[in-house]
Amino acid sequence: MMLSKRVQSVSPSATIAITTRAKQLQAEGVDVVSFAAGEPDFDTPKCIKEAAKAALDAGDTKYNPRSARALLEAIAAKLRSENGLKVAPEQIVVTFGGKQAFYDTFQATIDPGDKVLIPAPYWVSYPEMVKLAGGEPVFLATTAAGGFKITPQQVLDAADGAKALVLNSPSNPTGVTYTRDELHAIARAVLKTDLIVLSDEIYENLTYGDAEPTCFATLDAALPERTLTINGLAKTFAMTGWRLGWAAGPSELIAAIRKIMSHETTNPVSFVQAGALAAYTDPRAAEAVVEMRKEFERRSLHMAERLNAIDGVEALQPTGAFYCFPDVSAHYGRTIGDVAVGDSLSFAAAALDQANVALVPGVAFGEDRCVRLSFATGMEQIDKGIDRLAALLK
Ligand code: PLP
Repeated sequence: MMLSKRVQSVSPSATIAITTRAKQLQAEGVDVVSFAAGEPDFDTPKCIKEAAKAALDAGDTKYNPRSARALLEAIAAKLRSENGLKVAPEQIVVTFGGKQAFYDTFQATIDPGDKVLIPAPYWVSYPEMVKLAGGEPVFLATTAAGGFKITPQQVLDAADGAKALVLNSPSNPTGVTYTRDELHAIARAVLKTDLIVLSDEIYENLTYGDAEPTCFATLDAALPERTLTINGLAKTFAMTGWRLGWAAGPSELIAAIRKIMSHETTNPVSFVQAGALAAYTDPRAAEAVVEMRKEFERRSLHMAERLNAIDGVEALQPTGAFYCFPDVSAHYGRTIGDVAVGDSLSFAAAALDQANVALVPGVAFGEDRCVRLSFATGMEQIDKGIDRLAALLK
C-alpha cells in the first residue's frame, strides 16, 4: 500500500504507545506501575455523568444537540468570570478534545512550508499536527536550569518568517507554569512580530504553590485579535474519554475551524455536550475540581521529593499539570539489568523491563535527558513505583 508522504512524515504518539504497552502487560497479569498516562485517575464527577445520561434519556441524540448553544454561552461566561476574557459565543468552537481544536487550527492557519514556533520540551502532538498541515515545526530550546521556559528574545530571534507561536502553561511534559510577568514579557515580544499565538491552557485549573494560571489573551488589548485560547474538559474535570475541548478567539479563525469541522466531525457528541454544560454550570462539578486539584498538589510534592532522593535523578518541583520531568541523564552509560542505557528510550525500556515501571522517554517531547512521570495515579502507586526505580538505579 502506498501511503501518503504526509502520513509517512508523522510519528505515532509515544505516550499512547507506552500506555497501551503498560495496559497490555497489566492485562497479562504483570504488576506494572504506570506513570505513563496523561489522564486523571479520578472518575468524572457524578453530576456531569447524570446530565449526560439525562440528555440521552430525553432523546438528545441528533446532530446539533440541544445543549450546544447553552454550552457556548457557559464557556463564554467562564472565560469572562474566571479569566477576564470577553468573547461572544460565536467566537468559540467546541471540538473533540483539545486535540481536535489544535489539529483544525493548524489546518486553518498553516500553508505548506509555514513555520510554527514550539517551545521544547513540548506536548508530543504539536509538531506532528504542524507536519500534517504541511508546516514546519521550529523548536525554541529551553533547559531545566532556565526553568524550561522560553525567553522573549527567543521569540524575537525566531519570529522572522514564522506564522504562529504555541504556548502551553502549565506545561505537559515539564509541569512548569509561567508567571504572569513572564508571559507579559513574551506578549510584548509577540506584539513586535506578526505571529499569531495558540495558547494551550488545558491545565489551567491544576496549579500548585504560589503558581497561578494566566490567560494569555488578556495580557494586552491587542492580543485577542491574534490569540486563540485552547482548552478542554479532559484534565480539569477528569473527562479524558469524553473527548471534549474548545477554542476561543478571532471570529474569522473560529468560522474557519467550524468550516473544517462541518466536513469532518460535524459536532461533538450530543449528550457529551450536555455533560460539559453541567461541568461548567453545576457547583458540584466545581467542588470536585477543587478536591482533585488538592490531591494532585499533595502528590506533586511527594513525587518530586522522592525522585530527588534518588542519586542521579533531578526533578524540578512541578507548579502545574500532573507531571514530573526529571533529568536522569546521569545514568546514561550504565548497564541496568541487561539493558545498556544510553538515552531516554533505553532508560524507559530498562524501567519497564527490569522494574515494571512505565514512564515516557523524554525524547518524545524533544528532551532526551529526561523522562516523564505522571502523578495522576494514587499515592500508593507513586511510592511503589518510585521504590522500584530507586532499587533499579542503585
Ligand atoms: N494539550 C496538552 C498540553 C495535553 O497534554 C493534551 C492531552 O494530553 C491536550 C492538549 C489534548 O487533550 P484532549 O484532546 O484530551 O482534550
